[in-house]
Amino acid sequence: MTAPAQSMEMVPLADRLRWLLVVRIGVVALPLVAWFVTGDRSDRSVAVLAVPGLLLLLTGLLLQWRSRRGRRWAVAAMTVPITLDAVYLGWASYLTGGLSGPVVYVIALHVLAVTLVGSFRTGVKMAFWHSLVIMSLLEAVTTGVLPSGGPGTEFHGLRYGVFLAVVWVTAVTTAVLAGVNERELRRRRYDEAVLRRLSAALHEAETGVEVAEALLDFTLDAGDATLAAVQCRLAAGDSEASTLLARKRQDEPLEVLRDVAEPGPGSLVEAVTAAGTTMLAAMRAPDPWVDDVLDGAPRVVAVPFAIEGQGTGALVFQNDARAGSRIEQRRVAVVEQAVAHTATALARVALLEQLQRSALTDGLTGVANRRAFDVALTREIALAGRTDAALAVIILDLDKFKSLNDTYGHLAGDDVLRGVGAALRQCTRQGDLVARYGGEEFVLLLPGATEEDAISAARRVRSVLRGVEGPRTITASLGIARWPVHGATGPELLAAADSALYAAKEGGRDQARVAGREGPVTGGDGEDGLDSWDDVRPLDVRAVPVPPPLRSASVIG
Ligand code: GH3
Ligand code: MG
Ligand code: MG
Repeated sequence: MTAPAQSMEMVPLADRLRWLLVVRIGVVALPLVAWFVTGDRSDRSVAVLAVPGLLLLLTGLLLQWRSRRGRRWAVAAMTVPITLDAVYLGWASYLTGGLSGPVVYVIALHVLAVTLVGSFRTGVKMAFWHSLVIMSLLEAVTTGVLPSGGPGTEFHGLRYGVFLAVVWVTAVTTAVLAGVNERELRRRRYDEAVLRRLSAALHEAETGVEVAEALLDFTLDAGDATLAAVQCRLAAGDSEASTLLARKRQDEPLEVLRDVAEPGPGSLVEAVTAAGTTMLAAMRAPDPWVDDVLDGAPRVVAVPFAIEGQGTGALVFQNDARAGSRIEQRRVAVVEQAVAHTATALARVALLEQLQRSALTDGLTGVANRRAFDVALTREIALAGRTDAALAVIILDLDKFKSLNDTYGHLAGDDVLRGVGAALRQCTRQGDLVARYGGEEFVLLLPGATEEDAISAARRVRSVLRGVEGPRTITASLGIARWPVHGATGPELLAAADSALYAAKEGGRDQARVAGREGPVTGGDGEDGLDSWDDVRPLDVRAVPVPPPLRSASVIG
């Protein structure tokens, strides 16, 4: 990630050219002033100075106008007129008394201005060019090629030496000072640009991984690292803290690391988190976490951060600077700034993820809610349609649950519902979805399941429900429907499963039925080794509710 050259240029070329034109007006005007100030020039017309000056200004203007045509013209507009400036100043110096005249000061000013406005390299070149032009003029006067321009125009070693010293000291000091300033400004500009890019990336990020990637990209760029990693631990609601660990190498995709053990006590990450300050560590003792994550980097920079009361994290990266040298303070400061931005973005994303999770999760049981189920069902049906895969749903309704509530209270009922949610999650395969469809009704979405698979899932469900802790044995009635045989759309499929469920209720509860099939496929007749409904732990039934109206399972499919 490097910023485009244009944005890194301190002052745009067009602005430099404009300023150089202003300098040129001074270059032309000041010798004319000197001409009038330095006494009797009656033997020559002022035109010998004014006409070249005018031509010089015109050349500068013309080239500046052409400079819009492209880089080549811009470079010509930069170099040609300054070179001519020097020749003009040499000529003016000859006409106004050589090295004892006032134009030498204009020459020094010219070197200074060119160094500041152009570049320090151009300034040094200009000092050299001025030295040559003046020397040639003085030589020309001494050898008679040019007539003497007045007192002091002859070559005079000492004066020429002083002139050289003034011009070169001006050029070199200005160049050094401008260079230092410019480098610092350039760095600040660069840091600003990368921080801006980071902010934009963080703004766009919607997941913790995207936030981590933005920070790692930044670190590889601004921190000048080849390998960086970010770790953060977030308190995920009332459950265990969730940990995100991602690392990135220069020019390689982001890796999310899942099998790395948490940094233990005494580890670098623990130390910086506890201290709350950045550390540059020379890894003398082994740190298993650093070994795993940063390939055992010998020198590591670790920057801790806090995620607004939601957790903590740390950015770590290899420091490739020469062993023994210190990392630049500026680099640490800019990385710390980036880490602070990232912590805010992580807090936002964590909140967003939490909201999204809670919008799709059933608050009591922790399984998916009806909305999440409906979305998943539509998605899985579309997928099955494309891949010609099997798909089944099971709806289950706990048996005589109202009486459990009535007998043992709603809180006991809630505990049972929580236990049922956990049991269902435990008995389904990865990729299956368990949802609470409402009240004490649950639904299972089984992508890829054939009828046989769905029946064996129903058996497992009946079995695990018996293990749910509660004041009495929990059983349920289940309805199974297959896509597309029993329904082509989500609502049709659910209606078919629902009908099978009510057939199961009607058939005596604690059993599963498949839509369109007569009789239970598990339970009901004591088949598959589970206790039959009649044998389950005695229930203190005070009020057995009237079952809801029955719908025929056989009409569908
Ligand atoms: P069956 O299904 O076997 O016909 O009898 P049932 O007693 O289970 O009848 P039904 O399905 O109509 O009863 C649903 C009961 O579930 C009513 C209500 O007391 C209970 N229930 C629904 N939601 C909750 C809940 O969030 N917490 C608790 N404790 N009970 C709930
Ligand atoms: Mg019910
Ligand atoms: Mg019920």
